[in-house]
Amino acid sequence: MRAEIIAIGDEIITGQRLDTNTQWLAERLTELGVDVAFHTTIGDNLADNVEAFKLAMGRVDVVVATGGLGPTADDLTRESIAAAAGVGLVRDEASLTYIRQLFDRRGRTMPERNAVQADFPEGATAIPNEHGTAPGVELHVDRADRLPCSVFALPGVPAEMRPMWEQTVAPAIASARGEARVIRHRRIKCFGVGESQLEAMLPDLIRRGREPSVGITVSDATITLRITAAGPDDDACRRAMEPTAATIYEILGTIAYGEEEDELEDVDSRLLVNRHQTVAVAEWATGGLVSEWLAKAAPVESVLAGGFLIGSLKQLEQLTGEPALRDAAPSDSLVATTAAEWVRRTIGADYGIGVAAFPPIQNGGAAKLCISIAGPDRTRRLQFDSATHPAIRQARAAKQALNAL
Ligand code: ATP
Ligand code: MG
Repeated sequence: MRAEIIAIGDEIITGQRLDTNTQWLAERLTELGVDVAFHTTIGDNLADNVEAFKLAMGRVDVVVATGGLGPTADDLTRESIAAAAGVGLVRDEASLTYIRQLFDRRGRTMPERNAVQADFPEGATAIPNEHGTAPGVELHVDRADRLPCSVFALPGVPAEMRPMWEQTVAPAIASARGEARVIRHRRIKCFGVGESQLEAMLPDLIRRGREPSVGITVSDATITLRITAAGPDDDACRRAMEPTAATIYEILGTIAYGEEEDELEDVDSRLLVNRHQTVAVAEWATGGLVSEWLAKAAPVESVLAGGFLIGSLKQLEQLTGEPALRDAAPSDSLVATTAAEWVRRTIGADYGIGVAAFPPIQNGGAAKLCISIAGPDRTRRLQFDSATHPAIRQARAAKQALNAL
């Protein structure tokens, strides 16, 4: 089964808005085992839309379109699909009533132009939209030599499109393939090694075609392993993923720090809350990111007792009254250690985080990064060569500090 995704809208074709819908739909289709053959992007132009739909109806088995279902003159998807399929538009009274009621519930009268959202290509069915006025369109277009082509049109607003995909389109495609199954994911978050290093540690798991499959994505040095399983229900998927997750934890140890939405600061924060402990931060290199992330971390109880943004060695020397800093090189681990121990003492926290880098991270180039964690019993000193891209260097340094904690 081959699919084409059509993203519609002037804001997409001109680059004003990033087409995240196509990416999302492509991932979902791939998970269902459908081969995505084409991504097409078109503006709000009727002739182009009709041509694109005609072409798609001829060359793939499933077409999923997003955008152009609104009530305004530039919303052409309903009309385009009808023209491409060679049928007329008919008004669906049930959909019209539904849209009217939606406005009524919001205490408004439906503007007449919204009535077009109840127009459907002949033979099409409405895809319910719980979060907006535009119902989606499902149409099966007969073809002389092959099985019909299934066309699904969804609104452009991602928060409307996604639930409609989950509730209606994905089950319809799965059942067309003769499979009643659900797809479930489990994401394991990792930090502390590079992507290729991590791949080398898990050669059997990330093999193509493995079931359940394991995918790797990286964002600002945080690596996400995404396990995907298909099965008849939730439970079956969860059971199928369990041995894979267990193997990942066994091989990666503390590199795997959390799951799903977990960031390093969330895990730090949970650990500290459980132990009724707090942390204070003195950061010179990370622009306050360590403090900011800890302050935002779940759970809500604040584990961040306080923090300082250090601007220079001289300032740190004045704050701490530590004479040895006068002759220190900024990359000396003494700097981070002094900062960590001082901030822990001054604020009265259980842990102190000290971060220093030289040359200062925002200047680019290779930097030496020092992180010290002062605890109740001892101070741990860590050093890294921070030779990453300038754009992510601060974030990576902050993550290294949170990971060290
Ligand atoms: P509406 O009823 O809101 O008009 P629609 O189906 O007509 O829905 P569009 O008008 O094309 O959708 O887009 C509405 C909004 O949805 C856009 O302003 C944009 O923010 C977002 N959007 C549209 N297409 C995409 C896309 N491919 N990726 C991400 N966001 C999109
Ligand atoms: Mg619109």
